[in-house]
Amino acid sequence: MSVRDNAGQMRESATEVLDEIRQLKESLGGNVLIAAHHYQREEIVRMADAVGDSYRLAVIASESDADVIIMCGVRFMAESAAILARSDQRVLLPDFDAGCPMADMTTRVAAERALDAIKEQTGTEAVPLTYMNSWADLKALTGERGGSICTSGNAKKIMAHYLDAGKNILFMPDRNLGINTARALGVPDHEIALVSAQGEVSADCAGKRIFLWDGFCPVHREFTAEQTAVLRVTHPDIQIMVHPECTEDVVASSDAAASTEGMARDIERAGAGAVLGVGTEYRFVERMIREYPDRTIVPLHTAYCSDMDLIAPEKLLQVLRGVAGGDTDRFLVTIDDQGREDARRALAQMIAITENS
Ligand code: SF4
Repeated sequence: MSVRDNAGQMRESATEVLDEIRQLKESLGGNVLIAAHHYQREEIVRMADAVGDSYRLAVIASESDADVIIMCGVRFMAESAAILARSDQRVLLPDFDAGCPMADMTTRVAAERALDAIKEQTGTEAVPLTYMNSWADLKALTGERGGSICTSGNAKKIMAHYLDAGKNILFMPDRNLGINTARALGVPDHEIALVSAQGEVSADCAGKRIFLWDGFCPVHREFTAEQTAVLRVTHPDIQIMVHPECTEDVVASSDAAASTEGMARDIERAGAGAVLGVGTEYRFVERMIREYPDRTIVPLHTAYCSDMDLIAPEKLLQVLRGVAGGDTDRFLVTIDDQGREDARRALAQMIAITENS
């Protein structure tokens, strides 16, 4: 049934939209892969061929034979897929407004300024270690300067690799993942310095080994240690897991810090009867509650990512119609050749360090 919206335009009902998505998916067959992040709306997750966190989605996209990859997530995820895709594959994003405030907090220009300032202050080059949640030009700079990308799942291994090699590290853009990883490696406070969002470094850099960009995820900053304390009172047997993009005190007050992929695995392994507190984006927690009715799964707080939320079923349908009609230019994610090559190098470095150490 079509309905008239407030502006008086005819719109398809939610059921019609989902039915057409299913039909188009079926007719396009294996030529199209729909990939969805864990924080996507439930209707999108149900339509997806693959679901994962940003790292897993990049790997899935890189291994796919499909001609077209539709990335239901935010722009940096689509960029990562485009960096790793074959040259004859197209990566499409349903809404280019789906950005990421944390990725916006580090520009390439400011990162170059910080790398220069660290060299000037310390006398040695710092190696850039850049979180997957960043724009393609920052990933390219990372590759150009001999650095590596990392994810919340492998940040510890890669940071340890560079520290063991005697390198100073510029960690971008997430200060919380940086400090939580440094803490897990036992790096003392006096070896850690903060870098401003403009790329300014304090004049006193003596003995510093890790330089943390002052960026953060606004969604994960909504979680507090008070919320974990409340859950421990209301559910005395609770095991609390949070994302390492949460602040240091939230991680310290929890039982474990893990990527969404890691949380999904831990929730599955916890078994029937487990009581689990989860601190990450609420759409993921909601889905875990639905998928595991025999566990008690309690959110620390209901925090939504408004950028992830932009990918509505109607937008996915528009992309699929575009693919079926041969009109995909407005959804196409492009990376220039040099940037792609440099960013690929930084991603390859991540895989090499993760696999070999
Ligand atoms: S959850 Fe945070 S890091 Fe992820 S896309 Fe949203 S704002 Fe960015």
